[in-house]
Amino acid sequence: DEGERIAKRLARAGVSSRREAEALIAAGRVAVNGKVLESPAINVKADDKITVDGTPIPQIERTRLFLFHKPGGYVTTTRDPEGRPTIFDVLPAELPRLMTVGRLDINTEGLLLLTNDGGLSRMLELPTTGWLRRYRVRVHGKVDEKALVELKNGIAVDGVFYGAIDATLERTQGTNSWLTLGLREGKNREVKNVLGALGLEVTRLIRISFGPFQLGDLDEGAVLEVKGRALRDQL
Ligand code: URA
Repeated sequence: DEGERIAKRLARAGVSSRREAEALIAAGRVAVNGKVLESPAINVKADDKITVDGTPIPQIERTRLFLFHKPGGYVTTTRDPEGRPTIFDVLPAELPRLMTVGRLDINTEGLLLLTNDGGLSRMLELPTTGWLRRYRVRVHGKVDEKALVELKNGIAVDGVFYGAIDATLERTQGTNSWLTLGLREGKNREVKNVLGALGLEVTRLIRISFGPFQLGDLDEGAVLEVKGRALRDQL
């Protein structure tokens, strides 16, 4: 870890612009680990103690990323105008302030990514990342070969074209079937819209993976932090 220029750190912490930081240093107002700086030509590390006029500069929060097993019945928002319970009502209290990477519908269950880093969140939810999102879906209605082929070819519903969806029929129980779907788009209500267009009603929807991250055996309502290599690969 080479650290970063002191002026850059002061700017990132919101103390000043980089140029103003150099003036602060020249005026002898900046200290690193108790030693007043005489020149801006130094690098600082994450755990160096930096003060301006003796006051510690704000900590820059490191990027954190979490996997969350969203239970059904919770809205993916911080506050719901209709007063329905939100995912923040079930998340463990000790977490930092987090935002979601995209959204799952109220009744959708499964893997939802959470992060404290707005830039990372926007990047991960971009349709252009083309990340595969896999779902297990229970539908009411008959799933025939024709339906699977239509999914693989892509379908237009109400003027929106949904690209190829890789679909596998896992099993049929009476009038219900379980499918596994792989999507790369992340359009609003995509699974329900395309299956609905084929006459299949979604009665359960569980996201089991999002890009490289798997729901695995994470308990419903539980959170698992992504750390180390798995996190660095996404930054
Ligand atoms: N597709 C849907 O219809 N709903 C979701 O929550 C996710 C994908």
